[in-house]
Amino acid sequence: MGDTSWIVKTPEQIEERERKQKAHDKLVESCVFCNIAFRNDLRADILYKDSKYVVFRDIRPSAKEHYLVVTKKHIKNLKQLSYDDIPMIENMIDVAKATLVKNEADPDNARIGFHLPPLVSVDHLHMHVIAPADKIGFFGRLMFRPDSYWFLTVETFLEQLRAKESEFWGSEKMMSNWYVEPYMR
Ligand SMILES: [Zn+2]
Ligand SMILES: [Zn+2]
Repeated sequence: MGDTSWIVKTPEQIEERERKQKAHDKLVESCVFCNIAFRNDLRADILYKDSKYVVFRDIRPSAKEHYLVVTKKHIKNLKQLSYDDIPMIENMIDVAKATLVKNEADPDNARIGFHLPPLVSVDHLHMHVIAPADKIGFFGRLMFRPDSYWFLTVETFLEQLRAKESEFWGSEKMMSNWYVEPYMR
């Protein structure tokens, strides 16, 4: 019984929906990556798009293939992610590797990761995917140095998230995701 759309909306619910719609419109207007995700920005070279993620080419490529995998949801940066976001990160990696294969690049010779604040150009979570990793130029090698103070590879980031498991179990977030929801269905 997941579908509750048949329920008549109260004025409060209608107001809430309008408020959310306005907030969303404002984000699309002000955030470069939300704009690419939700509008047809002709300047963006979009390689892949589904209901959750968008992949497009970085405007300043550090190797032959350099993409950004962006969540359609406006998440500010990786500091906002926790243990229960692991499946999302894994999905982003799958999307990244599939896009590399589609563009005839080797996913095993790629650098995939995130910039750490404050070295983040746009405040919207984006995964860098760069290949071939052994042909990244001098400046790129610095900008995307694995596990430096400013760049985290996905492998290290996933390890960090997994380490948060104990914080997650029993937390309010976990309760709302795993415990309350079944009873709402
Ligand atoms: Zn955004
Ligand atoms: Zn970046």
